[in-house]
Amino acid sequence: MSHQRHFEGIPVSPGIVTGKAFRLDPRRLSAEPRPIPEAQVEQEVERFKKAVETSKTQIQKIRKKVEKDTDSSHAAIFDAHMFMLDDPILIKETVECIRREKKCAEYVLSQTVDRLAVLFKNIPDDYFSSRATDVYDVANQIMNNLRKVTSHPLRTLTEPVIVVAHDLGPSDTVMMDNSRVIGFVTGIGGPTSHTAIMAKALEIPAVVGVAGIADEVSSGDTLIVDGGGGRVILNPTEDELKKYEALQRKIQEQEQTLCLLCELPAETIDGHKIELSANIEIPDETAHVRSHGADGIGLFRTEFLYLNQPTIPDEEEQFALYRHVLEEIKPKPVIFRTFDLGGDKFISGVRFKELNPFMGLRAVRLGLANPEIFKVQLRAILRASPHGNAKLMFPMISCVEEVNAVKGLLKEVRDELDSKGIPYSREMEIGIMVEIPSAAITADILAKEVDFFSIGTNDLIQYTLAVDRVNERVAYLYEPYHPAILRLIRDVINAAHRENVWVGLCGEMAADPMTAIILIGLGIDELSMGPVAIPEVKRVIRNIRLADAQRLTEEILQMGTPAEIRRLVTAYARQLM
Ligand code: PEP
Ligand code: MG
Repeated sequence: MSHQRHFEGIPVSPGIVTGKAFRLDPRRLSAEPRPIPEAQVEQEVERFKKAVETSKTQIQKIRKKVEKDTDSSHAAIFDAHMFMLDDPILIKETVECIRREKKCAEYVLSQTVDRLAVLFKNIPDDYFSSRATDVYDVANQIMNNLRKVTSHPLRTLTEPVIVVAHDLGPSDTVMMDNSRVIGFVTGIGGPTSHTAIMAKALEIPAVVGVAGIADEVSSGDTLIVDGGGGRVILNPTEDELKKYEALQRKIQEQEQTLCLLCELPAETIDGHKIELSANIEIPDETAHVRSHGADGIGLFRTEFLYLNQPTIPDEEEQFALYRHVLEEIKPKPVIFRTFDLGGDKFISGVRFKELNPFMGLRAVRLGLANPEIFKVQLRAILRASPHGNAKLMFPMISCVEEVNAVKGLLKEVRDELDSKGIPYSREMEIGIMVEIPSAAITADILAKEVDFFSIGTNDLIQYTLAVDRVNERVAYLYEPYHPAILRLIRDVINAAHRENVWVGLCGEMAADPMTAIILIGLGIDELSMGPVAIPEVKRVIRNIRLADAQRLTEEILQMGTPAEIRRLVTAYARQLM
């Protein structure tokens, strides 16, 4: 009988799904030992050498760019990688093994790398033992070139599966074949990790932070994933299968009822309207945005276009995608957030070794350090702007100087377009994300500089409470109901409104009907969330009075603990429904 087990984790994307597990190998280096006929061995060796040369060119290109745009300590990481690409054990031995064993380059490389990593790990010196990671990085790069990247294991699935991994980076989720991945479970990660956000965007049930899951589950095992309850059942019994099938049917019926609300406005009983917009990560999501009755796109996380690409998307490619999204959504607005790379999202091959990447060269900081890359995106958005209702938003703003710097860059791009007679919308509104405590505290100053704010509570919570948003060990401290968070949001909204600046909120707090009630009481103008959450939030809004939400919020703002606040809102919501 197969090994059965129940797991608990962090529920991040609702829905119930039953299916076969697919365990994603963390190193992505395993390969089948495909035999190579004698006559084709030299060809195979050449294929391997070509992949190594391509990797060298890619790394050199990235190194040059990094050296030019940042300081040389960042570029030094790539020297280690270049060094590995000339390493006699890694390269020569792989070549010799292909000739000796007459097996495909992928398989031989994976074997060599495992041997080499063990060698490095066994050297009693921290520097050398940590070089094992570099060996894997470099080998992954060669492997990607051998496999032409498109053969990412999540791209080549042949049947519906539930992906199980210790960790699933954003670069994995963007490679996922959405028609085949029906759920996912990861060993690490928190409620607002980008993996979690992506799961919600794709409407795939998911549970994260399930300790040890990747060691217990094998590909082919049967799993039930309860994405709303945070439960995972390995090899369930017949009774459990029946119970969860019934539950799944019930959820589907509820969703159908909610969809009837799609065409109705998000308006309280006493006539106060709230804009409910959608967060998207990839352009394909526009159909979801429309079918869930969104008032527009409140957050387009454009950085997803940069992930898992061998090269940075060029201006034409970006322009075409932005134009497509604008045309699909018009006349409703689309807020383009400039790339928020760094943190936990990296361009393929460019991963700075930072001790605290969330506090490092992330988002506008990375853009301002690499103006040539940043300007390509700004040009593409500006050029697309006449094709719909475009707005531009800058993430991770921490001070007025940064606003001035990004505006300066924007002006340079506008001047260039003007000089070439290329049209763009001159009225396009410019906004910032308020997601760093310094920005929230100085919202009155920043409000004088921009047309709108969108509060990014995912980061605002992490930075205010000093709780890493992707670390499941401290997830219990990640608390949207913390009085510090609610007070900061109140102050940002009030400061913005005093300057007639519109304030939206696009963190995960917007998607929770309970927190949405408080945000409405605080006076928020817009809530932006994964499209699937819109009908439920709308249902709640249509059942409350603004005056009641305001009274409730006043009471909440006097409270000292998240538990008290949660109790009060829950009681209020129960009585409503
Ligand atoms: C946020 O920080 O709340 C936000 C919406 O941005 P992201 O989750 O992409 O950091
Ligand atoms: Mg953010």
